[in-house]
Amino acid sequence: MRPGPPRGRPGKGLQRVRELGRALMDVLLPEGGCAICGGSLPSGDPPPFGPSSLAWEPEVCPRCLDEVFTQRPRPSPLSAEVAVHLDGVVTAGSYAGALQSAVLRLKAAPDLRLARFLGRLLAESLQAPGLPAGWGGIVPVPLHRSRLLERGFNQAALLAAELGGALGSPVLSDLCERVRATPLQSGCTREERARNVANCFRLRRVGLLGTRPLTFVIVDDVVTTGATAGELARVLKAGGAEVVWCAAVARAGSMM
Ligand SMILES: [Zn+2]
Repeated sequence: MRPGPPRGRPGKGLQRVRELGRALMDVLLPEGGCAICGGSLPSGDPPPFGPSSLAWEPEVCPRCLDEVFTQRPRPSPLSAEVAVHLDGVVTAGSYAGALQSAVLRLKAAPDLRLARFLGRLLAESLQAPGLPAGWGGIVPVPLHRSRLLERGFNQAALLAAELGGALGSPVLSDLCERVRATPLQSGCTREERARNVANCFRLRRVGLLGTRPLTFVIVDDVVTTGATAGELARVLKAGGAEVVWCAAVARAGSMM
């Protein structure tokens, strides 16, 4: 028997099989349509430069893109109780139209093309003036174990992974955990939401030693009153975080 290639380094044959597999997948599973509405995508290469190149996104059709870009992020004022721990919230826009469709779609299935597009949108929202220039960590809002098992993925973690890649910042998916399953927040009042999430998060390691700078972004798909992000920010600050912002795809209602 001939000795195989060294462990950890695929041999040429295996590499070739992988390449062929990828090529076959490209033929069998073309990229599909728009990651938001499923409509057809413009073909060809992106424009090389000029204003039109700014509006070119490979995963999203021009109609959805237009809808996303017409509702650009506005500053989201925080209620006094949330602002105690959370330094600010940025979103890509209101929970309506194409952004709402995108959030619902990502909740239903772990679509990496859609997550990539939304991660880039969040990265852009975080480039606004007045925000920290560098982030020590990107922290997705954790799901409780029971809900993660039921759903199979955490959409906030998918967004965080793409955002971290776009910003070049570490993604700290296992820094925090949700120790208590919380009831669904839709339909709850501000007071109920705050009560539901009280003490539901915990740091999995003691403090944030070694993380520099001590600035963090909490990532979620939708932010409503900010109660969840505020509670997670409280836990991060108790562990030593200095600045904590939240980046969410969409803002539902007013946080005031
Ligand atoms: Zn579309």
